[in-house]
Amino acid sequence: MRKVAILGSGAGGTMVANTLQQELDESEWQITIIDREEEHHFQSGYLFIPFGVYSKNDVLKPKKEFIPQGVEFVVDEVVNIDKDQRRVKTAMGEYDYDWLVIATGCRIAPEEIDGMMAGWGKDIFDFYTLEGAIELRKKLKYFKSGKIVLNIAEIPYKCPIAPLDFVFMADWFFTVTGVRDKVDIELVTPLDNVFTKPVAAKKLAEFPANKNIKVTPHFDIAQVNTDEKTIESHKGDKVGYDLLVAIPPNMGDQALIDSDISDPVGYVPTDNHTLKAENADRIFAIGDTTNVPTSKAGSVAHYMSSTLAENLVREIDGEDPLPTFDGHATCFLASGFEKAILLDFNYDVEPLPGKFPFPGMGPFSLLQESLSNHFFLLRTSSTQPSAAIILGKPVVVNDSRTAWAISSAVAPASSALRVLDITDPLELAPMAMPSLIRSWHFWSSGPASRQVCPSFLKSLKTSGNLPENFS
Ligand SMILES: Cc1cc2nc3c(=O)[nH]c(=O)nc-3n(C[C@H](O)[C@H](O)[C@H](O)COP(=O)(O)OP(=O)(O)OC[C@H]3O[C@@H](n4cnc5c(N)ncnc54)[C@H](O)[C@@H]3O)c2cc1C
Repeated sequence: MRKVAILGSGAGGTMVANTLQQELDESEWQITIIDREEEHHFQSGYLFIPFGVYSKNDVLKPKKEFIPQGVEFVVDEVVNIDKDQRRVKTAMGEYDYDWLVIATGCRIAPEEIDGMMAGWGKDIFDFYTLEGAIELRKKLKYFKSGKIVLNIAEIPYKCPIAPLDFVFMADWFFTVTGVRDKVDIELVTPLDNVFTKPVAAKKLAEFPANKNIKVTPHFDIAQVNTDEKTIESHKGDKVGYDLLVAIPPNMGDQALIDSDISDPVGYVPTDNHTLKAENADRIFAIGDTTNVPTSKAGSVAHYMSSTLAENLVREIDGEDPLPTFDGHATCFLASGFEKAILLDFNYDVEPLPGKFPFPGMGPFSLLQESLSNHFFLLRTSSTQPSAAIILGKPVVVNDSRTAWAISSAVAPASSALRVLDITDPLELAPMAMPSLIRSWHFWSSGPASRQVCPSFLKSLKTSGNLPENFS
C-alpha cells in the first residue's frame, strides 16, 4: 500500500483529504490525516464571540464529520518530519509516507513581544484563539468607557481584514449598547494604511474615518509597558490603552522549525504557483503554513486545494506539476449595522470596486458596504462549520464565510448541491438558484475584480493606476 500523509486537519488539510480520497484508488493508497485536535474550529466565528453574537458551541464541530470514509484520522501531535526517510514522528507514533501534505496553519505568539504576557488576560486579549475570544467577551460585556486599542504587531498575520472587522464590529457593538460616545477605538498598525494594496487601502480608509475610529499607521511595536498601559514602537512612539486587543506575531508550527522544513518563523518555502515545498522532495504545502505572497485565509486554502490535489496526483503519475494557483482570495468584511464589504483579488489583480457576479447588477458589491453582502455573509456564517454534500460525497466547508463560494466552486455544473445545517428556509436559496451557483463557479475561477469591472479597469488603465503586470 502506498501512503499519503496530511499534517493538519483544518481548512486546507481537510479539503485536500476530501479531494484526494476521490482521486486515488483506495485499494492502492492509504490517506492518513493527523491533527492534535478532535474538534474543528471555525476560526472566522471567533470574531463574533467577543460581541456576544456567537458562543463557543457555534464555532466547534467534530472534525470527523468532515473527513471522508476511507481516510484514516489520527488525533496526535506532529513533532518531527524526516524528509530523507519520508517519515513523520508524532507524540505517540511514526508514519511513513510516499507523499506529504503540510497543512498545519499558523498561530499567534504573544510571547514574542516584550511585556505582552505580563498583561495577558488582564487588560490584553486576543480574538485569534477560542479561549482569547471567550475571555474578551467577558471584558467587553462590562466595558462602558475608555480606550480600546487594536494592535497589529507585524505582517503577515492570518485574515488581513480581521482587524478592520473587529474595530467596525466594536463601533457597532458600543453604539447599540449606548456607550459609543464614551469609548474611543484606535487601530494601530505597522502598515502605511488600513490595507496593503493602494486602491483598496484608499477606499477602506474611508470607513474608519466615517465611524470615528482613529488609525495610527507606521507603528512597529517593540514592547508593552503594562504599568503605564502603553504600547511602544521601535522608534519610541507610545499609544495608551485601557484595553489592548492584540494581534501578536503569527508563526508556523514549531515541528516544522525543528525539522528544518520551514523558515525560522515556521513558514514553509513554497512555490507560489504549484504549491510544491521548495528544496523538498514529494512534499506539498497549503494554507497559512505556506510563505506564498497572498492572504492567509480559508478562501485561499480552498482555492489552493484543487491545485495541490491535482499536482500531487500528477507527480504520482510521473507528470510535472502545473503552475495553476494564482493567489486568489475572497473575503467578506463585516462593517457593522448589517452591512459588509466584499474583497476579491489575486497575485496580479488587487481588490477593486465593482459588482459581483454580474457586471453592474451584483447583487454583491466589491469594496463597498452593502446589505446584500451582509445577507450573504450571514447566510453562510449562520451555517457555520458545515458540510456540503456534492454528489453524495462530503466536502468540507469549514470557513463558512466563504462557504457558498466554496460549495459552488467545487460543484460540477450538473450536480445537485445540498447544504447541511439548514436553519431557515432562506438557506435553501442555493438549491433554488442553480444558475447563480454555476455563474459563481465560473467567476470564482478568477478574481472578481478582473472579471466584472471592464469599464473600471479601463479607467484605471487610462489613469495609470493598473498593476504593471495586469493583462
Ligand atoms: C479571527 C479570525 C477570523 C478569520 N476570518 C476569516 C474569513 O472571514 N475568511 C477567511 O477566508 N479566512 C478567515 N480566517 C482565516 C482562516 O481561518 C485560516 O486562514 C484557515 O483556517 C487556514 O487554514 P489552514 O488549513 O492553513 O490552517 P488551520 O485551519 O488553522 O488548520 C491547521 C490545523 O493544523 C493542526 N496542527 C497544527 N500544528 C499541529 C501539530 N504539530 N500536530 C498536529 N496538528 C497540528 C491544528 O490543530 C489545525 O487543526 C480567520 C481567522 C481568524 C483567526
